[in-house]
Amino acid sequence: MTQDAGGRLLRVNLSTGSFSQEAVPQEVREQYIGGKGFGIYYLFRELPSGVEPLGPENKLALVAGPLNGTTAQSFSRWIAMAKSPMTGAIGRAVGGGDFGAWLKFAGFDVMLIEGRASRPSYIYWENGHGEVLDAGDLWGHDTEETQVSLASRHGPRTRSACIGPAGENLVRYAAIVCGRRTASRCGMGTVMGSKNLKAVAINVPRQVEVARATEFSSLVKQQIEAYKPHPVVSRMNKAGTTYAALVFHNMGLFPVCNFQRGRLAGIEKLAVDEFAKVKVGNFGCYSCLIKCGQMHQVKDGAFAGHRSEGPEYETIWALGGNLGITERDAVIAADSMCDLLGLDTISTGLSLSFAYELYQRGLLKRSQTDGEEMTWGNHQAMLRLVQSIAHRKGLGKLLGEGSLRAARTLGNGAEYYAMQVKGLELGGYEPRAAKGQGLAYAVSPIGGSHSYARSDQEIAGDSLPRVVDRFADEGKGDVIAFNHWQRSVGEAAISCIFASRATGRELTASLLAAVTGIDRLAGLPYLEKVGQRIATLERLFNIRHGFGRNDDTLPRRMTTEPLEDAGPATGQVVRKLDTLLDEYYDAMGFSRQGLPTADTLRELGLAWTAGFMSARDNRQR
Ligand code: SF4
Repeated sequence: MTQDAGGRLLRVNLSTGSFSQEAVPQEVREQYIGGKGFGIYYLFRELPSGVEPLGPENKLALVAGPLNGTTAQSFSRWIAMAKSPMTGAIGRAVGGGDFGAWLKFAGFDVMLIEGRASRPSYIYWENGHGEVLDAGDLWGHDTEETQVSLASRHGPRTRSACIGPAGENLVRYAAIVCGRRTASRCGMGTVMGSKNLKAVAINVPRQVEVARATEFSSLVKQQIEAYKPHPVVSRMNKAGTTYAALVFHNMGLFPVCNFQRGRLAGIEKLAVDEFAKVKVGNFGCYSCLIKCGQMHQVKDGAFAGHRSEGPEYETIWALGGNLGITERDAVIAADSMCDLLGLDTISTGLSLSFAYELYQRGLLKRSQTDGEEMTWGNHQAMLRLVQSIAHRKGLGKLLGEGSLRAARTLGNGAEYYAMQVKGLELGGYEPRAAKGQGLAYAVSPIGGSHSYARSDQEIAGDSLPRVVDRFADEGKGDVIAFNHWQRSVGEAAISCIFASRATGRELTASLLAAVTGIDRLAGLPYLEKVGQRIATLERLFNIRHGFGRNDDTLPRRMTTEPLEDAGPATGQVVRKLDTLLDEYYDAMGFSRQGLPTADTLRELGLAWTAGFMSARDNRQR
């Protein structure tokens, strides 16, 4: 045990095969905590304007938080960050399983991967020594085969994060996979593929430093006691997020047929009770007694034998209801397929729903669909097209670019039907039925993310900082800014979004202080400032890479078409996006153009960024 634990960076250059280590400076640890905070700090400094996301000059940061690998519960997820090939903005994806803990056991908070290997390769780290090894025999293998091969080659103590065929084939929304858990969004697996990097494998004993061990273990006991009676813990263990489909559908929040309406005939076939019938077990990330992962196995019928660690709500929606599909077993099969191929299920589903709507409107002909009848509810077509996307064949070649790029290639007004922000497809929450969520999508630095500043005041009835009427057209900017700061702290600590309610903000703060030995992390106002700093630095990254107020927007459908057939949300439309943006910028300390003001930069200790902002990307909108 030490008095000052954590804070090391491993730099791996794939072009040269070199490894070097650095200490993360103490002031960076204090001001950014770890996780996403470290990721944006290093990427902001090291990725100038003009970097091509799929070029060797892009850098991929795999980051752990200070609590990874400890006995604290639900803090062992990990994050991948790079300039995103989907958006050209900052990209981030949150992964689960064991990899974050193993990165920390290896002694690192950050693995910063640079350059490009000359042939398919993987990074192997064992007991203080790294190598870039040949992955020729792994290339083309799915994510399960790859992880099994690496464990059998290097021993059962090995854990890895890898890409599947989708990442190798540069599908723009490829995921990085550990176990069956994916770091899905923004094409972080595509960045790995562009570097000829199949996997990162770590083979080390389990050991982690804790600055104040006695205090820490008493705090963990408190956390476990708090978990026992907490309803989120039992609900997530019992059903994961499968409970959400029916709940959100009844609220009018569940988008159907590419956000054309909010009611799906047969939604009960995708309800929690239906998934419970094929549940065969639970699965969890390292050091998490919630074990929210629901193992499902199809017992009979056309999809008999398909087994998946999921699907979670977002996948049930994206590859199910949003395509008009209510065939539970087809959704399980699609989820399993995406995990093995290494695909983001949200962007896959929404690239498909974009194409299904074009087909509905006669803008995509059967001669362009590989002969598929792309009618709503056609799950066989969906399953075949998932394969085509991963292997970039036929229509899959176009759809593997994501809905925005595909729309621009097709022209003819197709862009209207691409349900994305900044190039990243939206999550499963209808913005017209929760207008603060609409604002959260619009201002998310990574594009259409449902989790960046999720409007839980509207979606889950949260009352902090205050209650919000989800249909109100304005008066929400401060709440979304608050959410953005809170989630930024959460992703710096890498507190699992599902479990954070059970742990609570005060206990999280105490755990951070005890594990790092940095007393000021125990203060909530201090942590809020850290969250604001991280969110502002992400904003600055994007400004440098050519983004501005015009990019903080929603698909035109949301601001022009009243929502149809969505129960209590029927008729809603986002009427005052500009007002919401002004409110948000005011709360964040940004100008009305969305630029952090000089006062804000000074107050957050970000005045140093001025020297990095002289050159900016000039990008196509
Ligand atoms: S609640 Fe679920 S996602 Fe979160 S850490 Fe636990 S097992 Fe992983």
